[in-house]
Amino acid sequence: MLKDCRTVWANCLRIIRSSIGEQSFRTWFEPIVPIELQGNVLIIQVPSQFFYEWLEEHYVEELKRGIYQELGPEGRLEYSIVVDQGNSQNKPRTVNIPTARKAAAPTQAASPAGSLAVGAMTASARNVAAAAAAPAQQQLRNPFEAAKGIDRNYLHSQLNNTYSFENYIEGDCNRLARSAGLAVANKPGTTSFNPLMIYGGVGLGKTHLVQAIGNHIKASNSDKFVLYVSAEKFTNQFIESLRSNAVQDFANFYLLVDILILDDVQFLSGKDKTQEMFFHIFNHLHQAGRQIVMTSDRPPRDLVGLEDRLLSRFKWGLTADLQSPDFETRMAIIQNKMEQDGIDIPPQVVEYLAYSVDTNVRELEGVLISLIAQSSLNRREIDLEMAKQALRHIIEDVEAEVNLDFIQKTVAEFFSISVDLLKDKTRKKEVVTARQVAMYFAKEHTNHSLKSIGYHFGGRDHSTVIHSVQTVSDLIDSDKQFRGQIQDLRKKFTNGKTGK
Ligand code: ADP
Ligand code: MG
Repeated sequence: MLKDCRTVWANCLRIIRSSIGEQSFRTWFEPIVPIELQGNVLIIQVPSQFFYEWLEEHYVEELKRGIYQELGPEGRLEYSIVVDQGNSQNKPRTVNIPTARKAAAPTQAASPAGSLAVGAMTASARNVAAAAAAPAQQQLRNPFEAAKGIDRNYLHSQLNNTYSFENYIEGDCNRLARSAGLAVANKPGTTSFNPLMIYGGVGLGKTHLVQAIGNHIKASNSDKFVLYVSAEKFTNQFIESLRSNAVQDFANFYLLVDILILDDVQFLSGKDKTQEMFFHIFNHLHQAGRQIVMTSDRPPRDLVGLEDRLLSRFKWGLTADLQSPDFETRMAIIQNKMEQDGIDIPPQVVEYLAYSVDTNVRELEGVLISLIAQSSLNRREIDLEMAKQALRHIIEDVEAEVNLDFIQKTVAEFFSISVDLLKDKTRKKEVVTARQVAMYFAKEHTNHSLKSIGYHFGGRDHSTVIHSVQTVSDLIDSDKQFRGQIQDLRKKFTNGKTGK
């Protein structure tokens, strides 16, 4: 009796359909086209490499069962993978890959040893498969259901259009990352910066930069589907899709993306199943020439809890870091922000802020926002006094560090002079010593840069601060009485902490 491929496949489908969810069936089995039956080898055509991998990892048992029933223990399956959709003149181009997994009796198929051959399936992939196949515990509305066959123009990019390259101030701290970002934004998927990985500490502008990339691409390539998603959201969506038995829809949705921006990738640490899914999506998108942009709060080598195979993918493209902005860049950022918001701040206040807030840009903006709020609430122009107040609330509360004012006050009291004298030009010996000691403690107990410390001591430059710190250190080594004084003073800073 000669069977034809359609009948064999239709019968296989009937068997498969009875054991998996309707949604999964529609997603993963309906698009398959039976091509040919060569003896006991059934050739089926699948739309992509990803599709093939997914079937092999997640539905191999069902497929084996079907083939076994139809073609017996010697039955085999071969995939024909469409690698190029072709057009009206040219037929689709395909490659054939045999499954190395022979059809086997269902009991045998259940044994894990018999199930592996093509693309070794990891434990976590098995878990995903198991979870995906588990009956849905609750019927939650699935956000990806509509993804298939949808016009990409209607998909929401989740971009915030206030982030642009124009308002992303360039400085030494971000030059490489910014220009790589611009290159990617101009030619997504076609530069060697794929993936582009931006890393840097909190508040240094990672999200701004990658959002700017997304906005730029959207503005110039309206047909491209750009998607911005935080790794946390990606993880939550994935978990949700597991719960509602809609993993395939989740994957389908992400496979539609032309430019995938995944923010804060460090969030995937230790989340094996989510990483597994991202790995697949990454491979598929990358292979299809789509652009991937990621951020991380630390360099890839320090991403503990991320699988090596995923980390090695990150190295395919370019990794660029963001550093803390220097003084000039901070000035430019503040000025830019003022222009954007249409506010006016006196130059000495701008300078004071740029000197004092040298941790990160988010904090700098926080101070500005608080100043603007206070100014409008109290109907008062922003001045230096107000800026100092604002800094007291924002910087020092956050960091719980000893503040400069406290150090100056304490040291001045200790040496029985006024705080004003510390900032004065006078070179009287006792004042000079007190000033040097205060600078020394400022260096030791605050996060202020040398420049900033100098600024707070009557506008001295950073080399004066270096000299002071050195002089005090030398005196501690050589002068026993002085060493005792320093020890007494240090107690006031280490016990009292903020000094408020
Ligand atoms: P991260 O994602 O690295 O934690 P964000 O991108 O959220 O940091 O940046 C924090 C804030 O600082 C944002 O409001 C952002 O617009 C601003 N910012 C950071 N870097 C720059 C820059 N170079 N120019 C202008 N604004 C910046
Ligand atoms: Mg961010």
